[in-house]
Amino acid sequence: MKYLYVLLISFCALFANAQSPEIYSRVEIDLLGKDINLLTSLGIETDHGIHVPGQILVTDLAASELELVRTAGFNTKIRIADLKKDYLEKLANPQVENRDASCTSALVTPYPTPVNYTYGSMGGYHTLSEMMAVLDDMRAKYPNLITARLDASDTIETWEGRKIQYVKISDNPDSDEAESEVLYTALHHCREPNGASQMLFFMWYLLENYNADPEVKYIVDNLELYFVPCINPDGYVYNETTDPQGGGLWRKNRRDNGDGTFGVDLNRNYGYFWGNDNNGSSPNPQSQTYRGPSAFSEPESRTMRDFVLAHDFVFAQNYHTFSNLLIYPWAYNNELADPSLAIFAKLFTRENKYKAGTAIETVGYNVNGNSDDWMFAEGGANSFTPEVGKTGFWPQPDEIDALNRENVWQNLSTALCALRFGVVTDKSETYFSSLTPEISLELFRYGFQDGPFTISLSPLTGNIQSIQNATHNVNPAQFEVVSLNSQVVLNPAIQVGETFSFLLTYSNGAYTQTDTLQKFYGGKDVVLFGEPADNLSNWTVNGSWAATQSTFVSAPASITDSPNGPYPPVTYSDVQLSNGGLFIPDGAKSPQLRFWAKWDIEPRYDYVQVRAVGTEDKARCGRYTKLGSGIGAQPSGEFLFEDFQPEWVEECMDLSSFIGQNITIKFVFGSDNGDERDGFYFDDMEVVYTDPTLLQTVIIPLNGFRLKQNEPNPANEFTTIRWENGGNIQGPATLLVFNALGEKMVERNLQLSGQTQIQLQTAHWPAGIYTGQIQTQAGVSQPIKMTIAH
Ligand SMILES: [Zn+2]
Repeated sequence: MKYLYVLLISFCALFANAQSPEIYSRVEIDLLGKDINLLTSLGIETDHGIHVPGQILVTDLAASELELVRTAGFNTKIRIADLKKDYLEKLANPQVENRDASCTSALVTPYPTPVNYTYGSMGGYHTLSEMMAVLDDMRAKYPNLITARLDASDTIETWEGRKIQYVKISDNPDSDEAESEVLYTALHHCREPNGASQMLFFMWYLLENYNADPEVKYIVDNLELYFVPCINPDGYVYNETTDPQGGGLWRKNRRDNGDGTFGVDLNRNYGYFWGNDNNGSSPNPQSQTYRGPSAFSEPESRTMRDFVLAHDFVFAQNYHTFSNLLIYPWAYNNELADPSLAIFAKLFTRENKYKAGTAIETVGYNVNGNSDDWMFAEGGANSFTPEVGKTGFWPQPDEIDALNRENVWQNLSTALCALRFGVVTDKSETYFSSLTPEISLELFRYGFQDGPFTISLSPLTGNIQSIQNATHNVNPAQFEVVSLNSQVVLNPAIQVGETFSFLLTYSNGAYTQTDTLQKFYGGKDVVLFGEPADNLSNWTVNGSWAATQSTFVSAPASITDSPNGPYPPVTYSDVQLSNGGLFIPDGAKSPQLRFWAKWDIEPRYDYVQVRAVGTEDKARCGRYTKLGSGIGAQPSGEFLFEDFQPEWVEECMDLSSFIGQNITIKFVFGSDNGDERDGFYFDDMEVVYTDPTLLQTVIIPLNGFRLKQNEPNPANEFTTIRWENGGNIQGPATLLVFNALGEKMVERNLQLSGQTQIQLQTAHWPAGIYTGQIQTQAGVSQPIKMTIAH
């Protein structure tokens, strides 16, 4: 009896806790040998966060949820003990601008921040009333392009008596024209404010660029764009009230569940396969993923249902944060609802590089009762859920601008796909050795609306004598790809290394866009240095850097700062190439350092840098670097790696400022006395550039002839190269092997009739990367890259 009493008390305590403001922590959950469905069946919200399937999930949990997860037998590690406290501390101690426009956002078009875009008072995010005031300001400034605020439902109010509001952007906004419709929403989950901020940014972008940008004008003139910036106003105001500076972590709406708990997960309450199982949504009112007592039991989801049914949306983008994902149906099962969704998603994520896929392909499990499944199945809309960002529900103010910007293309291309729209891609090489190069373009039609396109090339430089088939008039079906080839004749007086350029013009009949294509006569890629990073033979070590076989991109090893577990506190170490320097010749084009890396480094305090040392010693910026905070061990304002990148990524760093210099490469590590983590790994490094003064080897595609990867690779004492001679090429042939400096190491005569392989003794070759090719009378094969390690 006594035991039962204790149990009852603690159960009630759990219930009470779940509803009063709880402490939230960022938690790393160990998934090794575990099924993530076990987590979802506990009612844990796992659709936002960092998920490495089968390994870990990093997500934000309330104390009661953390208890549930631990009780269910999961190993957990606390990354941030008190998220709200951490958020406020960072807010009070702002980091220097954490992104650099010239560097990390190189993949994203530098859309200018709209002049009217303002930050809100809640950590940079707008309160509900501030958000509504922004909509009013838009109407006041652009009354011919945007409606006043309107109620999404005449009759339905939220539990606390609010209306869900929307605006429409279009020409003649106050009349309902016969134009295709597109829907953008945000804040189903009220702790995800970046969904709304990127929307306001995009809306201002449309309004301010209407007269200047023909593409924006085409969109606004020919579509009706509907924006619902806050689907969950009660929950949003609740977060405003508990956390007026931002950082509030309430997710659901504010239904009184009648049992002491509040809230339904609006993104589990839609009526398509609602409550299909208890993993994809929870029947438990205290859960973060509680689906409600019945489908569309909630005024917010009913409002959106009626709103969608009253319209004819071609697309819907339902914004959430965070995870850097773009999710599309189905969520309730493992099937892809329609192949076109995957095609659109690939286009939409071209700039932000979000991982796109169905629920099972992205978050790794099923969800039921969400907006996308219903909007696709019952609302007829191609529906998507972007999960913006990677750092949490409340990114710091200095992160907001870049997060807003990285979604502009996603929003623009969504609108364009409802219209007459295709994308032109240049499929031809950059460097040509022929005086009659062929420029090969492709047009891929994405848009729903039929009609012709005109694509043309015109010369921009005098060394182009003529272009045959310069103009292409085509009328492809949706998702059809059309090849557009133009034969170019260059002036025979052109010099090796000279550029020749074209103006590429795209027109869909309604507007015209131009782009420049720049090509080179001559040009050959040169690998200046290849380093497999399998041991330290090429490196000088200061501290604990070492090779490890525990993880790598190519076997057998990578190099890490701390091979035996977490890195130590208050430590500096470095590892530097000891080859006497790499000379990047004058006239080299686009010299780059490339390597693969992954890391786990305490953000804001600890760091790894990659420094190139020539006449200056500078930390390099890459795709993944941030700027140092100046606190802890981090040098202020310098490019560095921090935070958590659990999967291997290829990093690429520009070395243009070192042309004509002898340089070395150095990896630097520093930690303070705080959190100690796994550290930094790198593998397969190379320094490459293009030499435009060399006429490249003309690689003739040999019909059916293919050189296979040598085995073993990496090789030690010997390796075997095999080939397929499907085209039955006859006559003498030669195997050539070059070292990383382009010096010929091996030349062997082959007999293609009968011979299909050759073994090479490699015991005496220096360790490094080599290139193998076979020359035949029909041309030169594609090369293979061979690694020798001893
Ligand atoms: Zn969400």
